[in-house]
Amino acid sequence: MNEQHAAGKSQPVLQLHNATVYRSKQRILHQLSLQIDKGEHTAIVGPNGSGKSTLIKLLTYQLHPVTSEDGIPPIRVFGKNRWDVAELRRRVGIVSSDFQYYFLNNIKKGRITGVDVVVSGFFSSLQLFPHQKITGAMREQARATLERMDAAYLADTLFREMSAGEARRVLIARSLITSPEALVLDEPTTALDFVARHNCMELIRSLAQQGTTIILITHHIDEIIPEIERVILLKDGEAVYDGPKETTLTAENLSDTFGHPVGLHRHNGMYSVRLDGAQAD
Ligand code: ADP
Ligand code: MG
Repeated sequence: MNEQHAAGKSQPVLQLHNATVYRSKQRILHQLSLQIDKGEHTAIVGPNGSGKSTLIKLLTYQLHPVTSEDGIPPIRVFGKNRWDVAELRRRVGIVSSDFQYYFLNNIKKGRITGVDVVVSGFFSSLQLFPHQKITGAMREQARATLERMDAAYLADTLFREMSAGEARRVLIARSLITSPEALVLDEPTTALDFVARHNCMELIRSLAQQGTTIILITHHIDEIIPEIERVILLKDGEAVYDGPKETTLTAENLSDTFGHPVGLHRHNGMYSVRLDGAQAD
């Protein structure tokens, strides 16, 4: 517990208390307890299958933890354990490559323009439906948000005709349309080339600097941007290490979490790993 928590001054975004989650009868998260406060930019890092995306689905109430025995809610978001999911989704922006998949594979098969993808964020939906009342102001705001992402030129482009990097920028704009207090990014750079990836990370850095709480889920150590101050290492559904980046992100802890000897190198506030276990020079 840090000093802020102890003094009761913290403004929690996410609180998990002994959260245990089963999927298809298999236990995926095991008694996970953690608290992430407003402004506490955090990376959740772990190998494939460690439960990172499952953790996101808890936060969006797509999955539910087992009821705790002590009566304390296993999950609270912004201090509340019951939510109107649409309202919650307006307050926490989510970016996940799942969304790209949905837009490309739903009934419209990606025949939706960039601006309409962004507008769908107002309704927390993954397509636009005829009953949704879309105003001119919404479309204007969507265009302005695309512009913030350097993606104004994609407003009238069909989603299925965008490159992976373009689609990702449009999805980030979608997540920002409701001015969320927190932004959760689940492996946001998957399928991006190195330039698009760099641009995506720079964008996340500027959002962090502007005050959006960033929760970055990744297995790429080199995406842990300087703004991230806390690192949670997840292994087999348990937070095996959790604390300030400087003490948590070590070669030893990463080797343990990923089950392979790694060397860790830090340069200009960014990290990289070497798989032979040697400390890089
Ligand atoms: P990560 O995002 O860290 O790669 P996930 O949270 O996606 O991990 O998955 C954690 C574990 O949950 C994996 O072992 C995976 O096989 C399992 N899992 C994921 N989705 C499902 C599902 N729909 N049903 C059952 N098990 C699942
Ligand atoms: Mg995942």
